[in-house]
Order: sequence, then C-alpha cells, then structure tokens
Amino acid sequence: MDAFKILKQLNCCYGPSGCESEIREKIAEIAEPYADEICTDTMGNLIVRKKAAKADAPRLMFAAHMDSLGLIVTYIEDCGLLRFGVVGGVVAQNIVATPVRFANGTVGTIGLDEDSTKPEIDKMFIDIGAATRQEAEALVKPGDVAIYDTPTRMLGMAADQRIVSPYVDNRAGCVAQLIALEKLKKPVYDCYFVFTVQEEVGRRGAKPAAFGIDPQYGIVCDCTLTDDIPWTKHTGTSKVGGGASVKVMDKSVICHPEMVTVLKAVAAKKKIACQTDVLKWGGTDGSEIRHNASGVYTGGVSVPCRYVHTPQEVCSEADIQAAGALMAAFAETKPQF
Ligand SMILES: [Zn+2]
Repeated sequence: MDAFKILKQLNCCYGPSGCESEIREKIAEIAEPYADEICTDTMGNLIVRKKAAKADAPRLMFAAHMDSLGLIVTYIEDCGLLRFGVVGGVVAQNIVATPVRFANGTVGTIGLDEDSTKPEIDKMFIDIGAATRQEAEALVKPGDVAIYDTPTRMLGMAADQRIVSPYVDNRAGCVAQLIALEKLKKPVYDCYFVFTVQEEVGRRGAKPAAFGIDPQYGIVCDCTLTDDIPWTKHTGTSKVGGGASVKVMDKSVICHPEMVTVLKAVAAKKKIACQTDVLKWGGTDGSEIRHNASGVYTGGVSVPCRYVHTPQEVCSEADIQAAGALMAAFAETKPQF
C-alpha cells in the first residue's frame, strides 16, 4: 500500500470530531478487500475485523483515531465574518492565515482582529468572502465546522521521503492500520482494527469501542511528538525517520511492560525499524483500551510527527510503513503472556 497516496485520499475527506462519516466511508472502502467483517457502532467508530484461523483466539483491538481538529462557527458578524470556537486542541498561534474548508465545500481564510496584539481564538474570524451576514448565512450556519484546507505533499530526498500534510495526526495512524490489515495473512489473534471517533475532544470513541469488543490485548496507533528539532524541550523521545515508535507511556497510559518487550522483540526479529516512545504529555486511545473492564494488555505503535496540531504536520513515509508492518507482525506472533 502506498502510504502517501492513501494519506492524500484520507485528507481529501472531511472528518472533524463528531462528523466523521465521510472519512469513515473512505476508510471502509479501502479496508473492504482485506476484511472479514466491517461495522460501525453507535458512536460512529469503524470496526474492521480480521478473524484468526482458530475459533478461540484472543481478541486484539487496534485503535487509530480518524477524527480531526475543527473550528466551529458560533456567530456571524454583520460584515459577514464568522466567529468560531475550537473542536479539540487547536492552538491559536498556529492558525492565523490558514485556509479552511467547510463540509459543503465553502472555503475561507482565518484572520485576526486588527487591534489584537497576540493571537487568541476569540479575536479571530473566518473570512469566506461574504460581504454581509445574509450572504454568509447562505453558505454557513452557526454549528458548522471548518477544517484546515492545506495541502498534502512530499518533502525531502527519496531515501527518507517525508510528508507534510494537515491531520497527519492521526490519518498517518489510520494509514498504518490499513497497511497492517493488508499485510496480515495469518493472524493468531481475532483482530479488530478500530478507526475511532472523537479522540481529539477527549478519547470519547475508543471507550465504547473497547467496551463492545472486550479485547484481551490492545494496540493504539497514534502520532507522537518528536525530539528532533533544535531547542526542543525533550517532551518526547521519538524522531521522524527513526521507525515505528514503541510506546512506553504518555500522560494517559502506561503500557503493559510485556507489550513493550514483545513489540520490540518482534520488530528486531522482523528487522522493522523501531524506537522508544515516551511522551511527557498528551493522551491517546490506548488509555481507554488499557483501562477497559478489568484491564487489558495494551501497548502502542506510534508515528513520530513534527508540529503536531498545526495545519502542516510532518512525518516520514517509512515510519508509517514500519508502524503498519510492526502491527501486522505482532498479530501473527503467538501470545507470550
Ligand atoms: Zn492524535
């Protein structure tokens, strides 16, 4: 599977938290040839099942969130400019002059009040080219959500091809799960690849998904912050281009030590590039799987990402491939604990 091509396809889809139907349909279409069963739960999580050869195999739940950050319209000024709030962890200083797009295709750009000395969401607006409130209302209503409308492009040299794109977090994780699904030939687990909703607003999709699947094992596949630009504060340990990053912990979850050990052993055996992911802050769906029911053996395979939550995030295509390969290899390795 071509990671860049699939990422580009996913990023053409609209899918802010709570409005994931378009991205969900696209992922289901790509997954369909490799799946035994596909369903959508009440929350909107897409659950793609790949059965084990043996009927009594333990259940393994993978989770990558498919939702993205968004900007929700709260008020339309007489002059036609749109005031907005945030859906998820949008940082004001990252979004001035960013092109945006609504579900119906209406495009705009983000401006800042003239008298504003520092970027604050409450002093920003979206300009969709309307001259009056009536003109704006013909295109957009309060409650409508805009997403970043920035490009998905290749960067750098062929040897370590990097990608710049909006929503690498976490469409890169979704691509990695699709790659794992494609690679998986003989799973020894009953595998559930879940593409979760509403992670960006507090991991609200993964919890009911984990409850429904009731897995014994779990792997979260999300982006992680990097420690590879000058003057970094060492909030994380991963590097773009360093391979699949095996999660030890983030602020929401401490992975089961055996999961960390086995994931690293599988990577070594299959010669898959891997590194260690410790993240001082930020949460993932891994938390909701780990703490489901009476507890789940949970680990994580992360894709390192620079400039997380900005309109142009950077990751490595090879890291996405490595993450997919590692998840597939884990699912083909007999449970050791
Ligand atoms: Zn994420």
